[in-house]
Amino acid sequence: MPEMKTSEVAIEKTNLLGLSAVQLGDFFESVDEKRFRGTQVLKWMHQRGVVDFDQMTDLSRPLRDKLHQIAEIRLPIVVRQEDADDGVCKWLVETGSGGCIEAVYIPEGDRGTLCVSSQIGCALDCSFCATGKQGFNRDLTAAEIIGQVWIAVNALDGFGAQSRRRVTNTVMMGMGEPLLNFDNVVAAMSLMMDDNGYGLSKRRVTLSTAGVVPMLDKLGDVIDVSLAISLHAPNDELRNQLVPVNKKYPIAMLLASANNYLAKQSDKRRKITIEYTLMDQINDRPQHAQELAELLVATPCKINLIPFNPFPNTEYRRVSNNSLYRFKEILVNAGYTVTVRTTRGDDIAAACGQLAGAVNDRTRRSERYRDAALSRDEQRKNDLSDQQVVRIINV
Ligand code: SF4
Repeated sequence: MPEMKTSEVAIEKTNLLGLSAVQLGDFFESVDEKRFRGTQVLKWMHQRGVVDFDQMTDLSRPLRDKLHQIAEIRLPIVVRQEDADDGVCKWLVETGSGGCIEAVYIPEGDRGTLCVSSQIGCALDCSFCATGKQGFNRDLTAAEIIGQVWIAVNALDGFGAQSRRRVTNTVMMGMGEPLLNFDNVVAAMSLMMDDNGYGLSKRRVTLSTAGVVPMLDKLGDVIDVSLAISLHAPNDELRNQLVPVNKKYPIAMLLASANNYLAKQSDKRRKITIEYTLMDQINDRPQHAQELAELLVATPCKINLIPFNPFPNTEYRRVSNNSLYRFKEILVNAGYTVTVRTTRGDDIAAACGQLAGAVNDRTRRSERYRDAALSRDEQRKNDLSDQQVVRIINV
């Protein structure tokens, strides 16, 4: 093999896309340039959507040439964009290591919420979650996280001034548990809120966690964003089954940590959003609603009820409308603000819990779940009457 000359040694270029304002300032300083160049490049990338140094006209030609040598602005690659009839948009994004993630845009009135992924797959294995069934692949970099916002803004309005299809809110609620990718998620959320970046207010950037308590304890010290807790059960016994991380950090510990987070915020009127996915006959009974009302009595919160959205091989079923109405009524009568998330983007499998993507399943977890589901189906068929079996076979 021929020896490589010194001049041919590949220099690893710094990807500027995921760097915060401070990190960009540090970068320019480290290459003997003024710190304010960082702010200029930040605005080009995240306010104007420009990712080619040659188009950054307020940088001198020599500086642009230098940047070509030492830096790059590398976006994740969009493999596919799907548009649902109700305006929901999904991007399947290739992250360069064979793994794919998804970002989903959900328009509602004058709001447009982008659901952003933080990891490829997820290790927490919540029993009702499509992503959890894929196992964990790896953390996303800050560039790959903020890259999802860039891709959505670019596709929706091309970084134009006023468009009806805009990203007004972001939620770290896509694939992965954001608190298990703490530094990169914090860096990306900072860019979402930076006035020279996407300029979203802290009320419009939400982190949703299943309850990694030690990291939640840390979060309020480094950033001020809205918080959502994926609770899904009113007691530890049930939550241990649905959200296994609860065995390590039970509900009382989680709610104490969430309340501490609120106490650190400057705005004392802030509330936590409690996410509660309703599954038929699992956690949708009136006693569950009553228990939930009592559990949350000391936590400033609003409750978001999410009818479960079935996906292939799941054992759970969607809550009935009657149960949903009854559940909501109990909470409203107890004095809570309750919203119900309508199912969106069904025709492109974009609704929450369906962020499956073409992920490398290193743990072969999805295979095990499929086998388990097949044997459950087998068992069910054996238990059914002949007439019911005929109906199943005919479907
Ligand atoms: S619900 Fe969230 S934390 Fe739980 S497995 Fe799915 S992605 Fe992970």
